[in-house]
Amino acid sequence: MSAPVRPQPRVYNTSVPDADTLVRLHLSESPYGASPAAVAAATTALERVNRYPAPERESLVAALARHWDVAPDQIAVANGSDELVLATALSLGDLTRPGLVTAGTFPGYRAVLERIDRGAVELPLAGATTDATAFANELPGHGIGYVCNPHNPAGTALTRDGLAALITAAHAGEVPLIVDEAYQEFSDPRLPQTRDFLDRGAPVVALRTFSKAYGLAALRIGYAVGRADLIAEIRRTLSVLPFSVNRVAQAAAVAALADQEFLGTVRAAGAQRRRWFCAELDRRGYRYVPSLTNFVAVEVDDAGGLQDTLAARYGILVRNTAMFGFPGHLRVSLGTEAELLRFLDALDRLTRWSD
Ligand code: PMP
Repeated sequence: MSAPVRPQPRVYNTSVPDADTLVRLHLSESPYGASPAAVAAATTALERVNRYPAPERESLVAALARHWDVAPDQIAVANGSDELVLATALSLGDLTRPGLVTAGTFPGYRAVLERIDRGAVELPLAGATTDATAFANELPGHGIGYVCNPHNPAGTALTRDGLAALITAAHAGEVPLIVDEAYQEFSDPRLPQTRDFLDRGAPVVALRTFSKAYGLAALRIGYAVGRADLIAEIRRTLSVLPFSVNRVAQAAAVAALADQEFLGTVRAAGAQRRRWFCAELDRRGYRYVPSLTNFVAVEVDDAGGLQDTLAARYGILVRNTAMFGFPGHLRVSLGTEAELLRFLDALDRLTRWSD
């Protein structure tokens, strides 16, 4: 009998050119830049570029604790939420048990769990959303759980009952639940979020990032907020790389967080752009998954071929969602109106006209 073949982790492929001549609608970036106060703080921080950054990241930790109304020991700051996906998988729960993830989502959770030989079990989605009931039922047998909410690449979100069920299951089984809320700031702040459940004592950690709505993707900074004992474990792991969050990023994030007015304008402009783009999709007869975030999954035949042709022929970068295990769509970031029109016109040409 031949030995079982170990599945290869699906690696997140970001190998596209980094040129602004291309229309970048593939990485869910913000087209609104960052708060001018954050850019000014980053520029000032450069004056001390010869000095190592603060390893404890204490200014940002304190600011985030005030912002979330939690104790500072409930916050861990890291080099992007990517680093926190790694740190949580390395640190939390029963390490001899595989993690539970959903199929059809951000591949980072599974890639990390497989890379560290912890393993991952994937639960199918219920249509375009996380199946909260199935996830809650399965979680107790696993070492850790990862849920993406709002969901990448569908743009959907859990209901309050769904999120509550997950948190209750994590609590009952004492299995750490990581809720990746990378896109939460783009959504309506009244949407259910982990923040609403933090005082219940459940082993839950939310991951947030400054890369998306705060517009600081290049600086690489994100954070975790959750139960203090879990955060302590995450911090122990992060302390192996004490200077991984650079000085410029820390200064910019403190200023970005203080400028909630800017965040409000980003959220309002994003919602307006989403309405406009979906109306255009309707008008042109495309189907899509109704989104709450800054990207829309547009239904297409041959998403792989279209992704490649849009890039090669039109210089337009979008994501074939098959790479997430969510086939049949192109995920399109809500860039500028001009960029989105370029995408729509090119899509019309490629799918409607025989050129
Ligand atoms: N989680 C999700 C769902 C994402 O889509 C991304 C980036 N695209 C990340 C985490 C990582 O974000 P960052 O490391 O920039 O904070």
